[in-house]
Amino acid sequence: MKCLLHISVVNQSVILGMMNRLRTHKEEFLVGEFSLDEAYVARVMELLDREYGTDFRCYLNYETPWQLLIATILSAQCTDARVNLVTKELFAKYPTLEAFAGAELTELEQDIKSTGFYHNKAKNIIACAKRLVDVYHGEVPSKIEDLTTLAGVGRKTANVIRGNIFREASIVVDTHVKRISKKLRFTKEEDPEKIEYDLMKVLPEDHWILYNIQIITLGRTICKARNPKCRECFLKEECPEGRGKT
Ligand code: SF4
Repeated sequence: MKCLLHISVVNQSVILGMMNRLRTHKEEFLVGEFSLDEAYVARVMELLDREYGTDFRCYLNYETPWQLLIATILSAQCTDARVNLVTKELFAKYPTLEAFAGAELTELEQDIKSTGFYHNKAKNIIACAKRLVDVYHGEVPSKIEDLTTLAGVGRKTANVIRGNIFREASIVVDTHVKRISKKLRFTKEEDPEKIEYDLMKVLPEDHWILYNIQIITLGRTICKARNPKCRECFLKEECPEGRGKT
């Protein structure tokens, strides 16, 4: 199973909710001459949808919820392509959650070594699998309060699970979302949790999951960290950092 998600068209109540949130929120977002308003946010959402569509696949491959959880733990400081290479063999070698719970630490470390930070990741994966088996009867929980009690699972990983497995509106703040959301003036914060709360106020709820995938794609192809290609960017007429670049 891949995490194919269908995002519905923005409905009227969502737009009204967004406008109300922005009315109370935009005062905090005056940056120089730039003020964040609902029309600007709606145009950015429209351009993202037009460029990348509203159907998408999660970049990590998985067959079961717990496999996505382990893949997401492995993805910290590692590319999704590398994680997918590793998990292809890993999930064949450890076909059940119980197999991960009973894995030998040093052996698992070697199995995942190429993803980096493998000592911590292996330790967390075993502890996470044990807790899922012992406390949650082998099921991945849906609540963020439960997910974040699992070893190696912070808000980012919890939101990946909530969005992709449970279709709960949730915002994943990764390096691309953090960087580009600041360029778009959706936030001024550095802390991922504060950025998540800012985005929850600014973005229409039915774009919360989609935004992450779209921004990752934008960050990998156009708005790169070292050399953003503003002149080629479909957002250049809207984005405060792209305006005037021809
Ligand atoms: S216009 Fe430039 S800074 Fe803005 S999103 Fe596009 S590439 Fe990034």
